[in-house]
Amino acid sequence: PGGFLEVITGPMFAGKTTELIKRIERQMFAKRKAALFKPAIDNRYSEDEIVAHNGLRYEAFVIPTDEEGVRTIGEITKRENFEVIGIDEVQFFPMSIVETLDRLADDGVYVIASGLNLDFKGDPFPVTRELLVRADNIVYLTAVCTVCGRPATRSQRLIDGKPAPRDSPVILVGGRESYEARCRLHHEVP
Ligand code: ADP
Ligand code: MG
Repeated sequence: PGGFLEVITGPMFAGKTTELIKRIERQMFAKRKAALFKPAIDNRYSEDEIVAHNGLRYEAFVIPTDEEGVRTIGEITKRENFEVIGIDEVQFFPMSIVETLDRLADDGVYVIASGLNLDFKGDPFPVTRELLVRADNIVYLTAVCTVCGRPATRSQRLIDGKPAPRDSPVILVGGRESYEARCRLHHEVP
């Protein structure tokens, strides 16, 4: 069977991790050899498992977010002959992951990459953007805006309950205490 590059994207709390685990699980039921990878940076809930905000969890390879980490994903996939791989929080890896995943798909692997669409300022994450334009299928998920309940496409960063200013650092791993899902209208960057 031919390879395939699928990208799951959207803001925080959109259900990206849940959807990724669900798709990997389906492939395992179909007796495909599958694996999950996650960046070492994202240890919010577990060191060696991917855990969704609703508690759903799955065992994963934890990979450093550098060039060697990207090579490792390719090497493990080839060495173990994985037919399906899922990568969560793909935006935390260097740009070289785009070519690596694109190649793996060319070589017959079903690649499912899950990542944030936009950072807290509303700017695209370059890795996700580059994967989206190369994708064979895109799953664009929305969360629920915490202010108005409409579909949320943005991730609001909060510091002491107030919108984080534009000059705060882009990467700040956190959960419900520092981020909220917001729609375009209610997303604020002072
Ligand atoms: P993601 O990986 O996109 O951050 P997860 O799959 O980890 O999302 O978690 C999705 C879950 O988050 C939902 O099923 C729901 O239980 C919970 N959740 C918390 N806040 C929200 C919100 N504002 N909108 C939608 N779901 C939310
Ligand atoms: Mg997630």
